[in-house]
Order: sequence, then C-alpha cells, then structure tokens
Amino acid sequence: MLYLSTRGHPDRKRFCEILLEGLAPDGGLYLPERYPQVDAATLGKWRTLSYADLAYEILSLYIDDIPAGDLRALVRKTYTEEVFGTKEIVPLKPLEPGVCLEALSNGPTLAFKDMAMQLLGNLFEYELGRRGEELNILGATSGDTGSAAEYAMRGKKGVRVFMTSPHGRMSPFQQAQMFSLQDANIHNLAIEGVFDDCQDIVKAVSNDHDFKRRYRIGTVNSINWARLVAQVVYYFAGYFQGTRSNDERVSFAVPSGNFGNVCAGHVARMMGLPIAKLVVATNENDVLDEFFRTGVYRVRGARDTYETSSPSMDISKASNFERFVFDLLERDGARVRYLFSEELAAKGQFDLSHAALVARDRYGFASGRSTHADRLATIRDTWQRFGTMIDTHTADGLKVAREQVQPGIPMIVLETALPIKFAATIVEALGRGPERPARFAGIEDLPKRVTVLPADAEQVKQFIAAHCA
Ligand SMILES: *Cc1c(COP(=O)(O)O)cnc(C)c1O
Repeated sequence: MLYLSTRGHPDRKRFCEILLEGLAPDGGLYLPERYPQVDAATLGKWRTLSYADLAYEILSLYIDDIPAGDLRALVRKTYTEEVFGTKEIVPLKPLEPGVCLEALSNGPTLAFKDMAMQLLGNLFEYELGRRGEELNILGATSGDTGSAAEYAMRGKKGVRVFMTSPHGRMSPFQQAQMFSLQDANIHNLAIEGVFDDCQDIVKAVSNDHDFKRRYRIGTVNSINWARLVAQVVYYFAGYFQGTRSNDERVSFAVPSGNFGNVCAGHVARMMGLPIAKLVVATNENDVLDEFFRTGVYRVRGARDTYETSSPSMDISKASNFERFVFDLLERDGARVRYLFSEELAAKGQFDLSHAALVARDRYGFASGRSTHADRLATIRDTWQRFGTMIDTHTADGLKVAREQVQPGIPMIVLETALPIKFAATIVEALGRGPERPARFAGIEDLPKRVTVLPADAEQVKQFIAAHCA
C-alpha cells in the first residue's frame, strides 16, 4: 500500500515513512492510493473476532512494512481489557429503541482520542527502535489531545513529550490528569497565556528549521494517518455489535471538530462497511454543518470561534476535512491544492454547492448543530429516561442523531468522552456532579510535575534543549 498527498505531489510513500511525518511536502494530507475493499465473506469472518484481532485485520490492509507477527503483537498489546476497561473495548449501550451509544471513552484519559493514541505510542516506540532514532513531541493542548498523547507516550523508549497548555485554564481534573504523571519522558509546560499563545509557540519552534532538525521535533496532531486508520476499527466493531447479519445497515452520529473521527467513518464506508448515514454533529462552531447544508466551507476567525461547553469541538477550521474533499472531487489533487492553498487563503472560504449534494447522496453525509441549551436538555433527558449520564460532546452527537434517525436503521452515537471531564456542565444540567471512575479518586491531590514558563518560544526551546541530554 502506498500513500499520496491530497495536493497532487507525485511522490508515493509507505506507511512507516508517513508515520512520523506531519503534512506532505506540498502541504497536503496523506491518504492511501486506494481503499481496500471488504466483501461480505470477509465481513462474515471478521464478525466474531476480538477487537485486537479485528484491528490487526484492518490495519494489515494499510500497513505492509511492519512484519505481520510484529503488527499483531503491537495491536494485542494496545487493545486490552486492562487499558480499556471491558472485553469488548468499545461496548454499545442501548438508549431508546434504534439508538445506542458506542463507548469509546474508557481508555486512560476518558476520551476517544485514546483509541488511536494508545496505538500510536506503540507504533512510534517500535519504529523509532527499528531506526535507532529518537523523537521529541512538541504539542499544544487545552485538554483532551495533550493528555491522550502523554498517556500514550509515557515510559516509551525513544520518545519525549513537551506539552504546552495555558497556565491555570484547564479544568482541575484535566490538570490533575496530565500533571500527576511522573514519567521522566513527559514534560508539562504551563504557559502564562491562552491556548493561542501555546499554538504560536509550537509554530515558532517548528519554523526554526535548524532547531527542529537538531532536536528532532515532531507532533502527534490529528492529521496523522496512523491515528485516522486506528479509528476505522471501531466503526467495524460498532457495526458488528449493532447488527446480526451483514445485510443490515447502520448509521453513525459523530461529535465533530477537526473531522478526524468522522473521516475514519468515511474510510470505513469506502471500504464497503454497510453504513447508511454518517451524521456530523457540531456545536455552535458549525463550520462543518454549514458545509454539509450549503456546500460553502468558510473558516472562522478567532473572534468568530466560540468557547463552548463542548470545548474539544471548538474549532475554526477542520484540519482533516481536506481528506474528504479530495475524495469528493474524485481525487483531483490540483483542484484540492487550489481550493485549500489559494482560494481559502485569498477569500477565507470556497463554494462547492453542487458537491454538497454528492456528499449527501453518494457519501451518506448528513449534519446538524447543537447549542449549550441543547446539551443541557439532552444530558437531562438521557439521565431521566435511561439513567445514563453523558458528557457534553456526546450530547451534541445524540441531539443531532435523533434528528436523523431512519426507521429500521440503528443509529450508533459515538461517545467521545466521559462526563467526569466536564463536571461543571453536568452540575448545571442535573444539579449533581458526575460519577468518577474509581481509578481517578483523589487525583487532584497527587503531586504535580509541571514547569510554568512565560509565553516565549525562546524559553521553551531552552527548556527542550536542557532536557534532551
Ligand atoms: C477531539 C474530540 C472531538 C472531536 O473529534 P474530531 O476528530 O476533531 O472531529 C469530539 N469530542 C471529544 C471529547 C474530543 O476529545
């Protein structure tokens, strides 16, 4: 299997080459040259596999430069009951008839990003070991991504993490999750500023090409193909649990921000998984809902990007969206390059109104948006009717899912985080706090390992240099 860039660059690469890279050299995103096709007989065979063995079958269609035995060992080490809490790894939880949740948030940081990041940690350690190289991951986080990356990379050989976050601005639970890690290869940098300052620092350091090369700086952001392909697995696992035979179809509703999660659903559907609809749910930051309704993709400025109670979906542009546009435009790399590097830069938007119909009719997309009031109502209603407590992001997904249910087709809503991470909104909705999994009892009181630094890229560089010995 070879990988190409969405912007038409002629190079083709193998999986392990793109594993440790970010964007393609022309600024595009990597995609496989073609989507492997899964027929009914194969689906039949996969239906009864364990999650780890299913992951192996799917990943081995995309990864041919890791020996089979090694790849199988990596996925078996990753997807265990110990790490993800249940034998199913991603169990379904029924709500009203025809609607259920797929629990993707029982990993170490209680958000779905663990599903891919835990595998990425093992893949990085494996590939760096094979090459005899090291990597220093520099990131910026306001919550979920940073903690998922740290829990995936902790104790891994050849990898260090330098994670910047805005000082004093994450929830106490999220701070405790990250700062209580005592592993020598994990460095928390609390920056005296806001999240944008953290992102600016990461950009400034990455643009210092000498420093970047010398200290082998890398990232784990959501455009990484390995993260995306790991997410394809739980669409298959959800389908098998939600159906009895391969003649049935299901729909998925996906709380969306950077379009990474639902893009994995698109890949699963392209492989032949019988998915009726892929429902994109946004919060008030509705770039994606606007596109699927109107065909206009209009990125937002900082002033039009809202801070909401589902903060992991607060995005101004959807960084993985280019992958879907590439397929939507029948893989015309020159056109994608024009739209994303020229038209967007010049006008801040592009218009594909005809293609929006194709997105719906041929690719199964539907969309909707949800507000703070919707989240409160959905959390309350789900608690009162089913005794199930859901988080704010999952609430966005469930609200929009209910608008898109079709008779006879199960709707699977991806649960992307647990309520404990967003306790304040749960209290607002229910008048009581969320349940806390036993392993997180008292984490706010654990010793914290964090360095406070001013919003200054030079000081962050000095810190990295001093800790790379
Ligand atoms: C990251 C995240 C999302 C958004 O996922 P994308 O892949 O960016 O669309 C939704 N919910 C939670 C809890 C998240 O952490």
